[in-house]
Amino acid sequence: MKRLIEVKTYVIKRDMNIKEDQLVGVSYRETPNKGGIIQPIYIIMHYDGASNGSSAIHWMLDPKSKVSAHVHIGRDGLVTQLAAFNIKCWHAGQSSWAGLKDLNRYSIGIELQNKGSELYSEIQINKAIEVCQAIIAHYPIREILGHNDIAPARKEDPGIQFPWMKFKPLIKKE
Ligand SMILES: [Zn+2]
Repeated sequence: MKRLIEVKTYVIKRDMNIKEDQLVGVSYRETPNKGGIIQPIYIIMHYDGASNGSSAIHWMLDPKSKVSAHVHIGRDGLVTQLAAFNIKCWHAGQSSWAGLKDLNRYSIGIELQNKGSELYSEIQINKAIEVCQAIIAHYPIREILGHNDIAPARKEDPGIQFPWMKFKPLIKKE
C-alpha cells in the first residue's frame, strides 16, 4: 500500500498592527509617567541598562521614576506597550534634533533590554523591526534616531551594538 506523507510548511507571517494607537496582540501595561497628546514624527531607540526584562518595566510603571517609553522589548522578544503612541512619554529628556527641542513632544520611544554593550539578541531585533514597521505604517515618521543622536552629551544608547543598518532603511525616502 502506498503511503503518502504530506509535508506542509507553514510560513506564518504575522505583521504587527496598530489600532487606536496601540499594538494589537501585545501586552499592555499603562505607565502613569506620561503627558498630553502628541503627533509622533520620530522613533527614538534606547537601551534600558537593566539586567533583566521586568525591572525596567517596573521602573517605568512607578510614578516615582518619572520615566517611561511607549514600548519595551526584552531580550526574549517580549513586547510590552506602556502608553498609546499618541501620548507623550518621558524617555528623551533634554534633547534636540533638526531645530526641535524636547523630543518627547515629537517621538515614540522604544526601550530595548540591554545592559549597554551586550549584543542584542536576534529575536529582540526582529521584534523591534516589526514594531518600527507598524509605527512607520501608521504615523508620518521621518527618521529612526538613537537617544545618543538627540542628547549626545548625556547619552550613549542604544549603543555600539545596535544594528542601525537594519533600521535606517525602514524609512523610505522619496
Ligand atoms: Zn535612552
